[in-house]
Amino acid sequence: MEIREIPVPDVGDSEVLVRIAACGVCTMEANLYAGRMTVYPAAAGHEIAGWVERVGAKAAGLDDMPAVGDLVTIDGLPRCGTCRSCRAGQSAICVALQGHKREDGAITMGAGLADYIKVDASRVWSVGDTDPAVAAMGEPLACVVHSLRRGGFRAGDRVTVVGAGYMGHLHLAVTKALQARSVAVVERDEQRLAAIAAAGADAAVTPGDLSQLPRADVVFVTIASKEAIAVALASVGDGGRIVLFGGSPDGPPAELPGYEVHRRQLTVTGSFSHDPEDWRAAAELLRGGALTGRLETLVTARYALDEVEKALKQAAETPVYRVVVTP
Ligand SMILES: [Zn+2]
Ligand SMILES: [Zn+2]
Repeated sequence: MEIREIPVPDVGDSEVLVRIAACGVCTMEANLYAGRMTVYPAAAGHEIAGWVERVGAKAAGLDDMPAVGDLVTIDGLPRCGTCRSCRAGQSAICVALQGHKREDGAITMGAGLADYIKVDASRVWSVGDTDPAVAAMGEPLACVVHSLRRGGFRAGDRVTVVGAGYMGHLHLAVTKALQARSVAVVERDEQRLAAIAAAGADAAVTPGDLSQLPRADVVFVTIASKEAIAVALASVGDGGRIVLFGGSPDGPPAELPGYEVHRRQLTVTGSFSHDPEDWRAAAELLRGGALTGRLETLVTARYALDEVEKALKQAAETPVYRVVVTP
């Protein structure tokens, strides 16, 4: 890991310069630091919030375009715009999602662990007046909004969330805010179970106690394991939907019970990353302020930019919700 000094970038006509206020350390950054992901050299940090410092001439003044001084949450993961998925409006599964080369040779995968960032004006979203560490949760929130959309979530749905980690908490917070009938959480770890019960889950049980739960209209699986998928199949109601949100390339394959899916009309779908419309909704959830208290409790630690290695180490080596770097 090294810190590089590079000039503050110039912005083009359709770009925005943002002074970074906070950047969350996600699994990608933790994996890059720990050597579990080896795309080097990578300029990482894709959960970004900051204050707009300059807006390019073509973007300035457009309807709903952030203005100088606004706190924004940033979609820092570049999409190509030209692959088949992008052209079909599914930029979440863009083939070029792994980033592009910066002038200094670093592969940009957010590049938010920095003082400044230049982004396309289409990728900044005003969030009003909120804690920047919370505003930096725009990216994971957009992932969760995407997950709800993939699962066809509607107000009044009974929800079950499998896993009480950071993403489990965000699914609880967002489905509650959008009027789920009830939200139950299934988790193995007693401490995490107690924490999510305190955060407002209607029920919080271990995988052995599924019979206590109402059958769910939609189940969000936020951890990657064979057991988590089995829990989802056992807790979903007839006609229900299962969203595989958590995933790992080396996770064990699960068996799909074909007859059950057929006879009970189940839908099993995947959710990965986010599309622009998910960002609009996520920014609005942040701006509304209803989630702020819940989200603040998910900030495990805050570090200054010159302590970035400590932040990466903590996220890579210990259980955390979110470690946030605040330049
Ligand atoms: Zn992330
Ligand atoms: Zn693409």
